Amino acid sequence: MNIKKLFFSFLLILIIALLSAYFTILKMNQLSVNTQKMYTHPFTVSNAVASIQTNIITMHRDMKDIVLSKNSLEILKLVQEIQQEEDKALKSFGAIYQYYLGDKENIDTSYNAFKEWKQIREKVLVKIYDNKREEAIAITKGEGAKHIKDLYEKIETLKTFAFNKANHFYTSSIKDNGVDYVIGVIITTVLLSGLIILYIINSLLKINKQNNKQLYLIDQNILMARISLNKDVMEISNALCRTLQVKKEDIIHTKNEHFFTDATQFKTFENIIFSAKEFTSEVYITINNVKLWFNIEIFPELDSNFKLRSFNIILTNITDKKKIEEVAIIDSLTGLNNRNYFETIFEKEVRRAKRDKKNLSMIMLDIDFFKQYNDTYGHHDGDKALKAVAKVIDKYTNRSYDYAFRVGGEEFILLCQHQDIVELENFTQRFIQDIEKLKILHKNSKVSDFLTLSAGIVLFEDSHLLNADEMFKITDGLLYKAKKEGRNRFKSDTIK
Ligand code: GH3
Ligand code: MG
Ligand code: MG
Repeated sequence: MNIKKLFFSFLLILIIALLSAYFTILKMNQLSVNTQKMYTHPFTVSNAVASIQTNIITMHRDMKDIVLSKNSLEILKLVQEIQQEEDKALKSFGAIYQYYLGDKENIDTSYNAFKEWKQIREKVLVKIYDNKREEAIAITKGEGAKHIKDLYEKIETLKTFAFNKANHFYTSSIKDNGVDYVIGVIITTVLLSGLIILYIINSLLKINKQNNKQLYLIDQNILMARISLNKDVMEISNALCRTLQVKKEDIIHTKNEHFFTDATQFKTFENIIFSAKEFTSEVYITINNVKLWFNIEIFPELDSNFKLRSFNIILTNITDKKKIEEVAIIDSLTGLNNRNYFETIFEKEVRRAKRDKKNLSMIMLDIDFFKQYNDTYGHHDGDKALKAVAKVIDKYTNRSYDYAFRVGGEEFILLCQHQDIVELENFTQRFIQDIEKLKILHKNSKVSDFLTLSAGIVLFEDSHLLNADEMFKITDGLLYKAKKEGRNRFKSDTIK
């Protein structure tokens, strides 16, 4: 699931919620319209009918009082009251005409009956004014009362109709009050939103699982660590812990001394990395006396202000590749570099010395009367003697910028750095003595009882470094001279 999908899911929930809210409002509105209808129509009509009925009762009572009264002033007052009640009733009829929802003919019937009553009333009044009280009483009690009863019933039908209409509105609004509908919409909204949320959670969990899987793979297979500026190991992969043969809890938050066994190399690394640059190199780490080679890549990690915060180290085990390389450059008998490697490295070293303005010492060695040695002691002993000599050579060339090569059967070349020719001569002298001190018996040697060697040595000063061929020739010439002058010695020169 990507951000786009997540966004659309939330948008969908929002749309569903808005739709649900819209329909709920619509339903509430309908409900209020229904209620309003109920109040403006049937209730107004039934109120008007009730009011007319009251008017009629009042008027009828007044008529009764008129026929019994002997006081003409009181009669006048009652007539006026009847007039007022009649006006009120007519007004109510007006309201009924306006709001009645049924057949208007029903109103007409009641209205006409109301009007007709007036003629009966007038007839009674004429009798009263003619002093025919008995006749007036008879009309009022007879025709009058009957008409009123009839009128009352007619008007009652209007009331019944209004009541039924109100009842109808009430039941329909109860039936269609929208509660079920709103509940339905809410349940649908909740269900749909729940489904979408479940889908989102499920997708996120899937992504999380996938990420964890990938992290697990990285942790188990990639040799990596994060180191703080003061060289604390902040994070380290399980794969690297296994390779270094340390426990995670033992190495984490401790000073990292594991990746750089060589102090010079670490200095170079520090200079580069503290200027926030990437760094790649080949390093070896000795783990339980086994030398493992790694390609080390270091990536600086910067904070938001582009300041170096920590750095990530990624190691790749290149021990196998190194072993193959070693086979190609190492002489299998002595363990020194072979002639091949000399050819590769010599010109490079000359260029480097030129660039760094450093002296370069070239030492060419050749064992004396070695053919006789082989002839005397056999090839096997000859090999043993070569190994013994190589061991001394190795001891004399253990600085990082020293190189030792076996360039022929019993011929060696050393490339070193010396301050001046005196230092180089002392070095060679000690070395030659150390070879003789091995006391490898060589009874057929013409110069010693033991195995010896001769050397041609040249100190090429920084500004006088020649090309590789010329340098080789000069040194070889001096070796030849040393042989010629009696062996077990060196001949030296400085090129400056
Ligand atoms: P010089 O003092 O003039 O150097 O005499 P030399 O006998 O040492 O020189 P020469 O070049 O005549 O002989 C070198 C001998 O080294 C020939 C060979 O028997 C021997 N040799 C070369 N390679 C090997 C090797 O790998 N093992 C053994 N045992 N002997 C070797
Ligand atoms: Mg030789
Ligand atoms: Mg020799």
